[in-house]
Amino acid sequence: MRIPFLSLAGQHEAIKDEVLGALANVYDRQSFVLGEQVAAFEREYSQVSGVAYTVGVGNGLDALHLSLRALGLQPGDEVLVPSNTYIATWLAVSLAGGVPVPVEPDWRTSNLDAAQLAAAITSRTRGIIPVHLYGQPCDMSAILALAARHSLWVMEDNAQAQGASWHGQPTGSFGQVNATSFYPSKNLGALGDGGAITTNDAVLAHTVRQLRNYGTERRYVSETIGYNSRLDELQAAVLRVKLHHLPEWTRQRRELADRYTAYLADIPGLRLPFVVAGATPVWHLYVVHTPWRDALQQHLAAAGIESLVHYPVPPHLQPAYAGLGLPAGAFPIAEELATTCLSLPLWPGMTEAMIENVATVIKDFYHHQ
Ligand SMILES: *Cc1c(COP(=O)(O)O)cnc(C)c1O
Repeated sequence: MRIPFLSLAGQHEAIKDEVLGALANVYDRQSFVLGEQVAAFEREYSQVSGVAYTVGVGNGLDALHLSLRALGLQPGDEVLVPSNTYIATWLAVSLAGGVPVPVEPDWRTSNLDAAQLAAAITSRTRGIIPVHLYGQPCDMSAILALAARHSLWVMEDNAQAQGASWHGQPTGSFGQVNATSFYPSKNLGALGDGGAITTNDAVLAHTVRQLRNYGTERRYVSETIGYNSRLDELQAAVLRVKLHHLPEWTRQRRELADRYTAYLADIPGLRLPFVVAGATPVWHLYVVHTPWRDALQQHLAAAGIESLVHYPVPPHLQPAYAGLGLPAGAFPIAEELATTCLSLPLWPGMTEAMIENVATVIKDFYHHQ
């Protein structure tokens, strides 16, 4: 049985007529940028996210970057970021003129923990970017309490966690302003690039609205030095269709993740995802950890099962960040996670037989260890 890491085929086949109808509608109306589809999607996404405002932008990196601009980040300002996140979280801080200050995650959850954050705060620290990695919510209660004590803002990177919640409240609704991505492989994916910010702050929403469109509000009047980063009408029309199906797809992801957890429990040397009390994850990825990661990945590949590593090189060891002068060994938890993590196939439409097959191949690997 060949099992791809991700297949959108089943999901897309089921909604094909709906999506093509929505695309035809945009085609016929000939409004392609900042029209009624984007406005409607922004309203609908706000509703499911439990926020007052959503502003659609070109991609997740821009959502992070423009949010930081709206928060007024100044050159040299420090922002606390996970040492083990996707590079975009760091890049956004650098692009906005700030300094990303890495903080080690809790090794069990791969997410930021408040105790480590507290130790990294200096007089230059302005804010914290918690990333709900793999669709697992961070402990937002502890992070918000810490931020309040030190007068810091919080901006969630919700790119991997659309639909997740912390004590019943949707992720992406806790920070002053939050960012998400609709890259095709995300839980809510467009048919190309897309992103959005979510906030309850009218001023921040307004500022990002200006920044995404040349700093303008009225045509040909630029209030500020802006960018061109707009969610386009075609993608918004697709996202509106998909948003209706997201709860069902999330339900399927949870069921499949539970199957993995049941099949793979009690294998010595294989660590399964850890869900903290209060967190309702959406399983963007099902990530296991093992010291024999590369061998396990090869064993799976030999059986026709695709797996991926998220992520093999932590940001501080990327050539782009050589200038920070952070050597190998500087962030041992991030480095350890990078060498031991393995993401197993999981997508809506995947069958239980496929999950069982992956689990059987993994068990077979451990029998021969
Ligand atoms: C995908 C992702 C982004 C960036 O989104 P793009 O739309 O690809 O720019 C940022 N942060 C995290 C955690 C992501 O997974």
